[in-house]
Amino acid sequence: MNRRDFILTGGAVAGASLISGCSRSQFEDKGVNIKRQKKIKLKLATSWPDNFPIMGTGVTEFADRVREASGGSIEIEVYGKNRLVPALAVFDTASTGGIDIFHSGPYYWKGKSLAISIFGGVPFGMTPIESVSWFKNGGGYDLWREIYDRYNLHPLLGGNTGPQMGGWFRKRIEKLDDLSGLKMRIPGLGGELFARLGVNPVLLPAGEIFTSLERGTIDASEWVGPALDLKMGFHRVAKYYYSGWTEPGSILELTFNKMSWNRLSKEQQSIIEIASEELNSNMLYNFQSENSLALTQIKMDSSIEINSFPKEIIEKAKVENIKLIDEFVAKDRDFAKVWSSYSKFLSENRSWTSLSSQNYLNARGESH
Ligand code: CA
Repeated sequence: MNRRDFILTGGAVAGASLISGCSRSQFEDKGVNIKRQKKIKLKLATSWPDNFPIMGTGVTEFADRVREASGGSIEIEVYGKNRLVPALAVFDTASTGGIDIFHSGPYYWKGKSLAISIFGGVPFGMTPIESVSWFKNGGGYDLWREIYDRYNLHPLLGGNTGPQMGGWFRKRIEKLDDLSGLKMRIPGLGGELFARLGVNPVLLPAGEIFTSLERGTIDASEWVGPALDLKMGFHRVAKYYYSGWTEPGSILELTFNKMSWNRLSKEQQSIIEIASEELNSNMLYNFQSENSLALTQIKMDSSIEINSFPKEIIEKAKVENIKLIDEFVAKDRDFAKVWSSYSKFLSENRSWTSLSSQNYLNARGESH
């Protein structure tokens, strides 16, 4: 029996029972070094309401997993939006040590540094798998940590929304002109891009979007994707649902105050890193399955029209997107540095993704 077979079969089982049959004091009697972990309590604030589907619940599961895996040595108390700090104050509060960790999205912090918006995701940018590859293998993590270090923060990937939809419109969009003067709730880089297509982007708190759309105070709104959109009820008041390219896979973050992170032992840091990997992938998987279920439900309502934007709009958006990025590159040195790494990785990956996934998806098609 080779070593691998030994581990896969009886060897591991025998080993496990040997260990579980030994109490901690027996190990210590035998001089086995078991390092006692100091118990540590960490405060985590999110930008989502308590129990917010997928994003909020994912963070609670993460805290549970860390407690279990650390044998109770790490206790993370999770505070939903506005319970401990306002939703968009989590960055500053963690930076100054008022909380230990926050869960949010880098796209909220472009006011701090334009470059941070790249870490959150870029219109016509990387897919979820490409962006995680960039963070890990293309230098993205190093650049992210270099910039966050200035704010006394240590970021970890903390989820991905998967591809987001373009939004819900009260009228059909058939040509570029149809966007002219439309009031649309759309934040971030997507908002800046739509502004260049003639849209008047507005910012609204989540709780006001539905009513504004229902009353016609706004003409359109993007949110996330079928699963979360359906819960907002937009399909009842805006019947045209468009696929998107402003958020092809938005990154969520699990970011530590640096001192809180450094206070952890190496073992505790490893446990958190492993659990954050699980959080990161589970969130993407959950968005995939929940969006698919919700889309099936949306499709059952024949009053809803699901479509992609006309080619004329997409082509114009691509041109404007390049111009927008060129402007950012010219005015912000950090943006230029991060963009150089991001765009190099994207252009290398574009060919492979097209040859593999894109061709495969074209071949597979939507139906049997
Ligand atoms: Ca969105």
